[in-house]
Amino acid sequence: MADIIGISSSDNGDGESPPVVYRVDGQDRIQFVNEGWRVFAAENDDQHSAEDYIGKNIWAFMDAADGAVVLHRHLAQEVRATGRAVFLRFPCDSIEIERDLEMSILDAGNDDLVYCTRQLDVRARVSVEAPAPKPFNLCRSCGKLETPAGWFSVFDLITRALITMDRAPMTIAETTYPGCSAASRVGE
Ligand SMILES: [Zn+2]
Repeated sequence: MADIIGISSSDNGDGESPPVVYRVDGQDRIQFVNEGWRVFAAENDDQHSAEDYIGKNIWAFMDAADGAVVLHRHLAQEVRATGRAVFLRFPCDSIEIERDLEMSILDAGNDDLVYCTRQLDVRARVSVEAPAPKPFNLCRSCGKLETPAGWFSVFDLITRALITMDRAPMTIAETTYPGCSAASRVGE
């Protein structure tokens, strides 16, 4: 996920950083950002003010081809569809820093979502060989992801801890799940 929505402590690693909270509407436009966002942006030399983000689509600030971003987008839709909150952990690194983040995504009604991210750990990045990418098949009709355990929604994979978002980049191939009921409904 983009540095914009990650969070960091101060660069010297002292103290607690406030959580970064933001709210998006049903079209994923940013409606609100909290003080934690401003603190993070200032620490990361973000040239934009927090107000510059209001009204903008959150996904416009991320790499649409990044598999983790693809999964996050599906997750957002599933939180809206189910009304259930989801909690997940994932890394958010910059060139010099490795961060482990914990995020909650809450349905705030009317398709609004509230994201709250806090930092579990931050440390200087050690230059090691990048992990091999993990390939996944994603059903283009229903958004289920193929795993060794079968096809599951991203929401189920996260809430049942069947998948972890780690430092291995994810590559996503879109396909149609052979047993997909959504695909048969639309005549695929
Ligand atoms: Zn499907």
